[in-house]
Amino acid sequence: MNTTIERIEVIPIRAPRKEAVRSGLNAGDPVQASEFGIIRLITRSGLEGLGEISITFPRIGHSLCHAARTLAAPALTGREALDAPRVLAELDRILAGELSAAYIRAAFEMALLDLAGRRYGVPLYQLLGGRMRTQVPLAWGIYQKAPEEMAADARRAAEQGFHAIKLKVGRKLEDDLEAVRAVADAAGADVPLRLDANGAWHSVAQAAQAIEAFANTARIAWVEQPLPRRNLEGLRLLRQRSGVPIMADESLHSLRDAYELARAEAADVFNVYVAEAGGIQAAAAIFAFAASVDIPCIIGSQAEMGIGTAACAHLAVHVPNLPYAIETFGPLRYLRDIVSSGAQIANGFLIPSEGPGLGVELDLDAVGGMEAL
Ligand SMILES: [Mg+2]
Repeated sequence: MNTTIERIEVIPIRAPRKEAVRSGLNAGDPVQASEFGIIRLITRSGLEGLGEISITFPRIGHSLCHAARTLAAPALTGREALDAPRVLAELDRILAGELSAAYIRAAFEMALLDLAGRRYGVPLYQLLGGRMRTQVPLAWGIYQKAPEEMAADARRAAEQGFHAIKLKVGRKLEDDLEAVRAVADAAGADVPLRLDANGAWHSVAQAAQAIEAFANTARIAWVEQPLPRRNLEGLRLLRQRSGVPIMADESLHSLRDAYELARAEAADVFNVYVAEAGGIQAAAAIFAFAASVDIPCIIGSQAEMGIGTAACAHLAVHVPNLPYAIETFGPLRYLRDIVSSGAQIANGFLIPSEGPGLGVELDLDAVGGMEAL
């Protein structure tokens, strides 16, 4: 079978969300639709691999599609698709120094591994070396809105079997406290509450005051990214002052970031993203490093659609240490997905498909309706 890459298609899409995204990052400018991209690698023998460019903040998904189409695709066409490390090394060379390169890399890596899985007739998790578990518990995320609406979301999530609830904070403290109280009451004591500040607080003192107030209001599993991403010293001081565990998100993209965070003793938990790490294997490397320094990880979400979520699902069943619910519930955010089959979300669990590769089939009709350019 000829597995030389003959053609690469990059399809920018605009996928309407069920609910506009509101958080401290975009208080006055909610995101109504995701501007993402689909990568199709097609070999000379007609075998295909699918990848997804997913990025919610900043909204540069279509710029990344442009780079994928004009820079990456011409350079990767004609290469052997089964030699993923060589293809990715070339991609790394082309995108060297570009800060958003990881998102493009992740999409191509996904497509290469999908293609390899289809070629060998095995699910992607088998290519990674097999499964630690068959399904993975999911958390549910609630955006900033009126406390009674947030409470209703929390109640629904608990009923649907989600294993934790994540809440955006970082507004006026009184508003945050009201939301935390409402959500904690609605979710019940069995559903752990995670708070994500997206770097909203600007000093250790301000963050410590907020965290103490939250801890006096409800039981908090952890506070995610309380300070801006580069303030590792602040995160370290906050860990010393606060009894609530601190999670790194924006501070952590690459394996190098994981090393810096560990060295600075700046986080208790890592939020690892396939899209931000630069692919499934790069994310797995962060998991492996973190295990060596006793820092547990979860898998975070750019609200990936069906292709990106399938990639997360295969990683999630494979990694040895995954002690908490993950946040890759992206497909549930959309009116319609781009795949007709893929990972399942059922009773608060994510389950990868047993089909070859990612196990997804593109829904061409749905994609046609979302094409952006
Ligand atoms: Mg976050």
